[in-house]
Amino acid sequence: MVPAFTLSEKTQHYLALEEQYGAHNYHPLPVVLSRGEGVFVWDVDDKRYYDFLSGYSAVNQGHCHPRIIATLVEQARRLTLTSRAFHSDLLGEYAAFITRFFGYDKVLPMNTGVEAVETALKLCRRWGYAVKGIPEGKAKIITCANNFHGRTLNVISFSTDPSARKEFGPYMPGYEVIPYNDLPALEKALQDPHVAGFLVEPIQGEAGVMVPADGYLAKARQYCTDANVLFMADEIQTGLARTGAMLCCDLEHVRPDILILGKALSGGTLPVSAVLADDEIMLTIKPGEHGSTYGGNPLACKVALTALTVLKEEKMAENALAMGQLLREGLENLQSPHVKIVRGKGLLNAIVIKHANPEAAWDLCLALKENGLLAKPTHGDKIRFAPPLLINANQIRDCISIIGKSLDTL
Ligand code: PLP
Repeated sequence: MVPAFTLSEKTQHYLALEEQYGAHNYHPLPVVLSRGEGVFVWDVDDKRYYDFLSGYSAVNQGHCHPRIIATLVEQARRLTLTSRAFHSDLLGEYAAFITRFFGYDKVLPMNTGVEAVETALKLCRRWGYAVKGIPEGKAKIITCANNFHGRTLNVISFSTDPSARKEFGPYMPGYEVIPYNDLPALEKALQDPHVAGFLVEPIQGEAGVMVPADGYLAKARQYCTDANVLFMADEIQTGLARTGAMLCCDLEHVRPDILILGKALSGGTLPVSAVLADDEIMLTIKPGEHGSTYGGNPLACKVALTALTVLKEEKMAENALAMGQLLREGLENLQSPHVKIVRGKGLLNAIVIKHANPEAAWDLCLALKENGLLAKPTHGDKIRFAPPLLINANQIRDCISIIGKSLDTL
């Protein structure tokens, strides 16, 4: 049995405020954070925790990375927003930088992840009509079961999670959902000449870090090329060094036609997302046909430049690869009867809990919290372990011991 934990008066005060005045669209762990640095966060009572969620992989570079914060503050004093009605002295510089960084002709900057996904879907449909020659209104996009691409009405239209969809219909047509990691299903779906694109997460993060079979991405890429269909990779969670390479697709030498980035593009400081593609795709969208007030603002551009530079210069992909290996080995070695499976790539990992109590994963997260590590269950029995990418070997060992100790309380 996990012991009942008491919450401080301060903590209860903040929880009560949120409960009373905030919408109840999340179910957070009862911890109130007020400070962060590197791999650590501190609560309002100054208790320190390892952050094993990293803002759902938005804080890859670590909390309040000094270079990113310095850039943020400096640029915030100079110019934050022009709108796209005018040019800024940073959009061009950022666009040149990020397109060279990832090897594409053009970038379309947005803010949140789901906006970037929406942008990719619009680009894909437009390309389907303007370039591929699909008859107007017939374009189809293939997506995968158990996907998570965000929360807009369009994006939930191809979700298979009942809690994302229930009582939010009617849904947007034009999508076909196939099983994830199923090449024959993809091959079959691609036979329809009206298919414009295939949207896929290289690893399904929200689904509980579902890692597809080796070779899946490379084969899927090839099938799309053969069918003249755009391969769109949602690397919002898997990208930016998280899985041990700058992009998860890099692990299979796959170059998406449309690359979707978000989260860590700002190192956890503000919503910055981006869609990258070559001219044949990107230039199908003309002035006035898509955009966003904040998309490509000078503050975001400058911060993203530094956030990407930090990932590369501080070799975060290399560290994620090595520390991920150490973490998974350590978790396996615990040989806990309550861990059904350990899986992941780099520092995007999950354990699946085996226990008679359906609340065991939640209880484990409460025990982890007590012991100084923050993680959150997803889909009941899965817990993601995704610390900031600058974590070192001693810290990983410390975390494994915290996890072992916490598992013993189940
Ligand atoms: N796509 C993936 C793969 C994600 O993991 C997420 C968020 O978790 C999103 C899209 C949506 O991003 P945002 O919450 O910034 O809209």
